[in-house]
Amino acid sequence: MFANIIVDISHEKLDRTFQYAIPKKLEDKVFPGVCVDIPFGKGNRVITGFVLEVTDKCEFDISKIKDLLGISKKAAPVEARLISLAWWIKQNYGSTMNKALKTLLPAKQKISKVLVKHVHLNLSEDETKQMIYELSGKDRFIARKRLLEELLEKKVLPYDIITGKLNVSASVIKGLADKGIVRIVTKENYRNPVKISNSKAYDIVLNEEQQKVCDEIWMEPGKVHLLHGITGSGKTEVYIELISRVVERGGQAIVLIPEIALTYQTLTRFFAKFGDRVTYIHSRQSAGEKYDQLERAKAGDVDVMIGPRSALFTPFANLELIIIDEEHENAYKSENVPKYHAREVAKKRAETDGATLVLGSATPSVESFYKAQKGEYILHKLSARAKGSSLPDVEVVDLREELKRGNKNIISVRLDELIRQRLERKEQIMLFINRRGYAGFVSCRSCGHVLKCPHCDVSLTYHNDGKVKCHYCGYEVENPKTCPECGSKYIGKFGTGTQKIEEAVKKLYPNARVLRMDMDTTSGKDGHTEILSQFANREADILVGTQMIVKGHDFPYVTLVGVLAADLSLYSGDYTAAEKTFQLITQAAGRAGRGNAKGCALIQTYNPEETSIIAASKQDYNMFYENEIRYRKLLGYPPIMEFLVILLTGTNEELLDKRAKDVAQTINESENSLEDVITVIGPTKANISKINDVYRRVFYLKSTNYVDLVRIKDILECKYEGSEKDIGLYFDFSPLSKY
Ligand code: ADP
Ligand code: ZN
Ligand code: ZN
Repeated sequence: MFANIIVDISHEKLDRTFQYAIPKKLEDKVFPGVCVDIPFGKGNRVITGFVLEVTDKCEFDISKIKDLLGISKKAAPVEARLISLAWWIKQNYGSTMNKALKTLLPAKQKISKVLVKHVHLNLSEDETKQMIYELSGKDRFIARKRLLEELLEKKVLPYDIITGKLNVSASVIKGLADKGIVRIVTKENYRNPVKISNSKAYDIVLNEEQQKVCDEIWMEPGKVHLLHGITGSGKTEVYIELISRVVERGGQAIVLIPEIALTYQTLTRFFAKFGDRVTYIHSRQSAGEKYDQLERAKAGDVDVMIGPRSALFTPFANLELIIIDEEHENAYKSENVPKYHAREVAKKRAETDGATLVLGSATPSVESFYKAQKGEYILHKLSARAKGSSLPDVEVVDLREELKRGNKNIISVRLDELIRQRLERKEQIMLFINRRGYAGFVSCRSCGHVLKCPHCDVSLTYHNDGKVKCHYCGYEVENPKTCPECGSKYIGKFGTGTQKIEEAVKKLYPNARVLRMDMDTTSGKDGHTEILSQFANREADILVGTQMIVKGHDFPYVTLVGVLAADLSLYSGDYTAAEKTFQLITQAAGRAGRGNAKGCALIQTYNPEETSIIAASKQDYNMFYENEIRYRKLLGYPPIMEFLVILLTGTNEELLDKRAKDVAQTINESENSLEDVITVIGPTKANISKINDVYRRVFYLKSTNYVDLVRIKDILECKYEGSEKDIGLYFDFSPLSKY
């Protein structure tokens, strides 16, 4: 057996591995992540390396290959654990080791350090006083005197402050330094993205229910806990308490949040408790900012890391706690290879690091709740709102009735009434729609033709700038004036989107201040923060937006939430549609009435008899879950059965179909080697059968045995790896939606 070993750990050096032979007696001790001593270079200098992969393929001249010396005696650093985690990810989700590692390790290329200068006082206090005395009264030394007085008090000052606020020139500082009176010290500094200046002190005392949950979780370290707490029940404060217990004894914690938009609010709350010991990362930070946060974590400069699923790979050496807030969110599933789910990877990392994992949600995923029911996770409940306010009243409006009454508006009569009431009382309103863009697709009312992307099997979406765009490949054209099929001029946009609602709302309530939040208005680095803080500061009365406004935000003056079209998510066409609908409505309703005044949520729908909508309107999780799990059992969907989607892609359709047939046969042949039966559906055209001129074919595999599915993946990976460049082979173990 041979080991591929890396000596310098960073993204860029991963491709530079060295192969060593594994002596027989070490074979069962060498696996990915293990630190080994190796003879290196011409002089066979002994250095330490990390094993990335173990293989039986010798890549070099076998007579020249050296043996590795042994397992390193040095304590394995955190990187070793991350490498073994990468290996686990590669094995469980289908990926190359290289891709898996690049997901875990930061890129360090071309990242320069930030340098900061400080000026230190070199003289004793008496000497300084003497000098100040000598300088006084002399106009030309006034700046020098000002600096010395300040240094007498502070001893050290940032260079910028001296040249800025104190208005002392660089030449004056240099003059003093040359005389040995002060000394300029240049230090490398971490970039710190946290810019909170006027933080309130943390003053929350947990209520009895919260306290009890904390103690229960604390009593069972190293386990997976599911915290089911209604919206506003104070889950975040429970996290903060648990983390502070961990930090107190030198441990570290990772907090995953599902949306960049939530970063600022979460950070502010954590900052009040942990100050400079908390930081965050997210995809919109510069490479330097991101890299420095991971360095800080490794150096022990911070104890708490907040971020999206990738924050899971923070190189904390003493990781004791991982929190996944809003654990039901789709954002925790990676849609790039390796297609891992943060919940499962977090569980694995918690196991290797000996940490506790806490999953929190007001609407737990069916999967997690099922595991809690089976005893795999420990279930905890928070059943009351922390501030004593009650859950909002929920009203359901049947849009079919509305149409019968002749109201074609997107705002029902009842919602209009409630909005006017709130505006009068100077309370805030959130209107939520489950769509982005100005309108949906563009179609011809004469012949029914729908504008489609020439490169993808999807319809184009109308945008307010007069263009139609493809959300999959970015293709865009001017909106046509006549139908390209029949020439009719009755071609137009259909459906509703946030922009359209914003316009309608502005027209209906001309005196109200309206903000819109969706993908298009939040593209900048701080786009989210700006809109959210404006709304939080009550600079607007109505916030219109997509799902990003319903998740986790805490606005005490919002007393009305309108869900404009609850059904949209019901038609996504996959088995989680009801779950998503329930979650969205419950979360949206949960934004109302979090302050002193009681809140109200109004749900507009064409399907008032749908169980997920009824359960959401009653805020009754159990009603939803019981119904949903029955349906999943009946149809053999996850979490009862495990799913594996196999996706084949290629630009040559003929070749692709040939390969698909071959794959079908391979699966068929391997079925004998499995433990249980599996169901195979496919190959069929994917739901979106073409993206960016690449054709797509899929297989759906179902089994009660996860290991069997992983085995099929292994067999296919092994057989087709690198065999045909044009054809892609991808695996997805927890598909979020139809392929
Ligand atoms: P959740 O995350 O469960 O939706 P939050 O943690 O955001 O709930 O809590 C809702 C609000 O209640 C927040 O403003 C929070 O600061 C406040 N809160 C939570 N626990 C307490 C407590 N024990 N005492 C006072 N206020 C609390
Ligand atoms: Zn037409
Ligand atoms: Zn396209």
